Amino acid sequence: MNAANTQSKTCRCLVFNPGLDVLDYRVPAGMTVEPGSVVVAPLGPRQIIGIVWDHGRLPGADFPIAKLRPLLQVLPVPPLPAPLRRLIEWTADYYLSPLSQVARMALSSSAALQGGGMITEYRLADAAHPARITPQRAKAIERLAGAQATIRELAVIADVSDAVLRGMLGAGLLESVRVDSDRAYPEPDPDHAVPVLSDGQAAAADRIIAATRARAFQPFLLDGVTGSGKTETYAEGIAAALAMGRQVLVLLPEIALTQNFLARFEARFGAAPVAWHSGLKASERRRAWRQVSQGGAKAVVGARSALFLPFANLGLIVVDEAHEIAFKQDDGVRYNARDVAVMRARFESIPVVLASATPALESLAMADAGRYERLVLPDRFGGAQMPHIQIVDLREHQPDRGRWLAPPLVKALEERAKRGEQSLLFLNRRGYAPLTLCRACGYRFCCPNCSAWLVEHRLSHRLACHHCGHEVPPPPACPECAEPDCMVACGPGVERIADELREILPDARVMVATSDTLNSADKAAEFVEQVTHGGIDVIVGTQLVTKGFHFPNLTLVGVIDADMGLEGGDLRAAERTYQQIAQVAGRAGRGEKPGEVLLQTRHPDAAVIAALASGDRDAFYAAETEARRDANAPPFGRWAAIIVSSEDEAEAKAAARGIGGTRPTLDDVMILGPAPAPLSLLRGRYRYRLLINARRSSDLQTVLRDWLGPLKFPPGIRVAVDIDPYSFV
Ligand code: ADP
Ligand code: ZN
Repeated sequence: MNAANTQSKTCRCLVFNPGLDVLDYRVPAGMTVEPGSVVVAPLGPRQIIGIVWDHGRLPGADFPIAKLRPLLQVLPVPPLPAPLRRLIEWTADYYLSPLSQVARMALSSSAALQGGGMITEYRLADAAHPARITPQRAKAIERLAGAQATIRELAVIADVSDAVLRGMLGAGLLESVRVDSDRAYPEPDPDHAVPVLSDGQAAAADRIIAATRARAFQPFLLDGVTGSGKTETYAEGIAAALAMGRQVLVLLPEIALTQNFLARFEARFGAAPVAWHSGLKASERRRAWRQVSQGGAKAVVGARSALFLPFANLGLIVVDEAHEIAFKQDDGVRYNARDVAVMRARFESIPVVLASATPALESLAMADAGRYERLVLPDRFGGAQMPHIQIVDLREHQPDRGRWLAPPLVKALEERAKRGEQSLLFLNRRGYAPLTLCRACGYRFCCPNCSAWLVEHRLSHRLACHHCGHEVPPPPACPECAEPDCMVACGPGVERIADELREILPDARVMVATSDTLNSADKAAEFVEQVTHGGIDVIVGTQLVTKGFHFPNLTLVGVIDADMGLEGGDLRAAERTYQQIAQVAGRAGRGEKPGEVLLQTRHPDAAVIAALASGDRDAFYAAETEARRDANAPPFGRWAAIIVSSEDEAEAKAAARGIGGTRPTLDDVMILGPAPAPLSLLRGRYRYRLLINARRSSDLQTVLRDWLGPLKFPPGIRVAVDIDPYSFV
């Protein structure tokens, strides 16, 4: 029993040391802690950070108090709220991850934990100083326009050394500013610019508003065609939460979409939301984290990691483009942010809106089962028509040799150029060509660390591996047969399509839009700006440009290879192809002029292509649902993957066999493998995989825990469990 106030107590803490998840400590007299308190504790000679946890919820033996060491300090942050602690527990349990690894995602700014206070930042001084301008300084001055940050952060932005900046400070070219890391953000105003909703939008918005006011758990599937105004609709739910003084969280799949969203949000609410993503500077993270935890950040827009922020008073969660696979994290804690968002809403007792024009089959099934409330927006806003989708059968309309655009697509592009309208060509392949051969001996350029081809990037003069980031300059001769100038490009990437376009439309301004060219929020914003103001005629892009963007003068979308996603036999290949093409098609004709979509394919009869052409989404989903039922795939059955890897191939194989050899025999669980994973070498590690297919009703997690828990492996072996996997490589 814990004794009265005057005596010391014990507490159980979650700590972040491998193998030492849970430790008990004594709470010294005069210190108060509660569940969720973030504390500093001794461990041997070191000091570590821990979170005080609800005593009965963590396993561990009770030690006599006399044997426990005292906590050293409570950090000056609000205790992690109970709903977040429950979410951390659920996530660890469901995805079979260590509790501390999940909890660490909530403490995502170490600076924030040290408290608020003043920090010194620097910016370019106003007055033009006659100081000596070296080339380094000139470069810094050019790059630092508008920036304000610590010296270290400015050095990264300016790409110069700290010393150069210190010198500039001494010369009066930089000035220092004291800023409060806890300064509040401008408050969004729910009544700032209220739009007039269409009847359909209003009906959907009313449901979200009512649920927000009711402060009860309620998941919604906001199922609206591209251009139906899903953002305007859920924004009214946001307004309702803000009016109640509560916080809101909007999750987006891609940082590239953030800037666009910030601008729209600001137009509606008069103040931008707080952005949360991996590109933030440390000082921005610190301020955002602290304001979120104190309730001062009213609206947060972020990538999936924002889901574990310590909101003080969350009132609504929105997951936009909820079908996107980018919500699935494939390393560390392998969670799906869409599903975890629903759980967070449940623990917080608030509504959650999953918005999409092409919902995941799993989400539709939940709506059909009545677990999610479905809100449908069947029409585009403002009378815009859905684009007309046409098939270009590549067997009939062959592109010229070494070309990829078939005559009907070329003609459509030429028409757009004449009319001054914009076009978008979609090919989900970065770089110039996916495969490079030696002309003389047929040698294929491969990654030394991965079982993958190197992709030629002509814009950056590199051969690059898209899995591990390995890059080399194109070699002057074949490494195998020494033939000089030997490289032949096979197949198209976006850069090659852009080259072809420049030959067809020499006057067109062509922009390649991929994660290589739009690799920061700023570059993405610049891209949106340029397209919106007519500075670009044709965009050639990967999946990055399929979602979210609204360009009214864009009237043609060409899909270079509609069959590409169907190769490889991935469980979700058909669904993903449907979603990707429907989304990219949805970029066409969003303004007053109608849109046209041309799908280049060799399989016009494939169910997914036919469904896209006929616009019969329901038929596609119905057929896909039956296929999933037959395969006992989600939402009917459940999948999990076990990935065993090692730098040593024999060791990986032996460990995978060891796991296979101890497999349980169960009626409702089928275990396949081990077999080499399709990407059998990744980042220098050899990979073997087992796939588990279970009935919906089976307790898959317990089966896996009982099976894998007792097994021991050599230190070089990594065993990763992926629950509800999306990646089958
Ligand atoms: P979705 O996300 O459903 O594809 P958007 O939210 O991008 O669609 O809306 C499409 C366009 O229509 C946007 O430019 C948006 O601002 C505009 N729009 C939608 N609803 C309204 C409304 N009620 N009032 C004014 N503009 C609207
Ligand atoms: Zn590689």
